[in-house]
Amino acid sequence: KSFTLRRTAWDGLRGRAAPVLRAVNGVSFAVERGRTLGIVGESGCGKSTLARCLVRLLEPDNGSVRFEGVDVLRLEGAERRAFNRRVQMVFQDPYGSLNPRLSVGDCLSEALVVHDLARGPAVARRVEELLDLVHLPRDAADRYPHEFSGGQRQRIGIARALAVEPSLIIADEPVSALDVSVQAQIVNLFLELQERLGLALVFITHDLRLVRHVSHDLAVMYLGRVLETGPTERIFSAPRHPYTQALLAAAPQMTPRRRSRDEAVRGELPSPVAPPPGCAFHPRCPIAQPICRERVPALEPRGGDWPVACHLAGSGAS
Ligand code: SF4
Ligand code: MG
Repeated sequence: KSFTLRRTAWDGLRGRAAPVLRAVNGVSFAVERGRTLGIVGESGCGKSTLARCLVRLLEPDNGSVRFEGVDVLRLEGAERRAFNRRVQMVFQDPYGSLNPRLSVGDCLSEALVVHDLARGPAVARRVEELLDLVHLPRDAADRYPHEFSGGQRQRIGIARALAVEPSLIIADEPVSALDVSVQAQIVNLFLELQERLGLALVFITHDLRLVRHVSHDLAVMYLGRVLETGPTERIFSAPRHPYTQALLAAAPQMTPRRRSRDEAVRGELPSPVAPPPGCAFHPRCPIAQPICRERVPALEPRGGDWPVACHLAGSGAS
């Protein structure tokens, strides 16, 4: 089973919450059961917007999102509700996504009952199982979100997501609000749950060290587009896109050989509302050519083992 998002020109997004924005373009990747796709990029690059598209909190103007072979954007009624259950999100701030007036037990029970996944005494048993899964004590059920630390709250958020038996979890910066010492515990919890439950995971982060640790496959985003996507380790050892190269060079401990600091990403991230024409990276690209200002490079293999959106990739120049 795989989760596929395939499109080369998403030309805008109609969102309930967001203004019309050219935020997700040239996206094409897949996540399989038991595997993690890491989405990485600078903040403001469209990672969160993409995540919201995946769960249909936002609707792309065109393009398709396929889940287990079915076009998600065409689902209606019961099928749509089933999809909403099978794909769950875990957010950066678990406190903001938990109802402060519900005890942890009520919060988890509500999810089970709404989706008709347990009834009667089975509800309390399942709540205990969920708390066990995320390594919270069973008496947590009687307490309220504000009584917990940030890391524990994130465990509650994860239990809430797991309650409805998803096959895919999209985690949007799930540890970036936590202390570094707690981050590793939550990351390890994701890895453990993935192995036990066979979950597919989309892990969105700006933290390169983290994305390398958790993800099998990687999508590098810039201004709403995926510029490079492929096996994480191979991209880290031989990034093909000039942006990926600069991003990794800016974190020198990430790469096998140290690169000079002036290879780091130069200049400011342009506004995603009015991205530069052609290759959106051209104002910052050290090897830009005239064609780069004129034509948007498609995400294609270009003579390599994974796709990259750069006119010069595979030409020997990059
Ligand atoms: Fe640089 Fe041109 Fe490649 Fe864009 S298409 S990354 S500007 S070389
Ligand atoms: Mg974000």
